[in-house]
Amino acid sequence: MSIADNLKAIRATLPSHVTLVCVSKFHPNESILEAYEAGARVFGENKVQEVSRKQETLPKDIVWHFIGHLQTNKIKYIAPFVSLIHSVDSYRLLEEIDRQAAKSGRVIDCLLQVHIAQETTKFGFSPEELTTIFAAGKWGELTSVRIRGLMGMATFTDDEAQVHAEFRSLKTLFDQIKIAYFKDQPYFDTLSMGMSDDYRIAVEEGSTMVRVGSSIFGAREY
Ligand SMILES: *Cc1c(COP(=O)(O)O)cnc(C)c1O
Repeated sequence: MSIADNLKAIRATLPSHVTLVCVSKFHPNESILEAYEAGARVFGENKVQEVSRKQETLPKDIVWHFIGHLQTNKIKYIAPFVSLIHSVDSYRLLEEIDRQAAKSGRVIDCLLQVHIAQETTKFGFSPEELTTIFAAGKWGELTSVRIRGLMGMATFTDDEAQVHAEFRSLKTLFDQIKIAYFKDQPYFDTLSMGMSDDYRIAVEEGSTMVRVGSSIFGAREY
């Protein structure tokens, strides 16, 4: 199937309130343009250099999301154009994004990444850490980042019950934080969960944004 066919098939399975982020990391501009011609506008990348290069050369109405681990010294390269950072995994990073966003005269939308999987290698806040940070309240002083919601990745496993349970736990945390801190802020509306292998489960568990790569573009060549 072509990229356009893949996109069509995936879109057909997504409810209208779920945003599809086309994860184009490691794929060339030509593939992105193919998806673009088929109507895709939201693309996700996980390397600062790669997204900067693509942003410079591809159509300006593309909405770029950053989904990878971000080093504080590299924020400045994406701060002028990035639309949403899914992968804020420390409070220090959030503060630094705030600083760089201010320098660019922007407010940058961010998701806080929560560690829900069993694997120990994945980045993110633990649910307890996240709760502590919100309770401390200092985040409320940041004026150039807007916390739009949470992001998480489930364990890479065939055990669907476990994947369901992990996504459900993130949705519960999302709802708790929304009620406690963002009740009157409708912009706290984004729960980014689900990739090629598990986005259907994620949507069942309340995802509002799925990040799909290989099911659209095929396998990545590293
Ligand atoms: C690569 C990546 C994806 C997409 O993965 P696929 O399995 O190719 O759909 C989604 N989210 C993050 C954070 C990624 O790094």
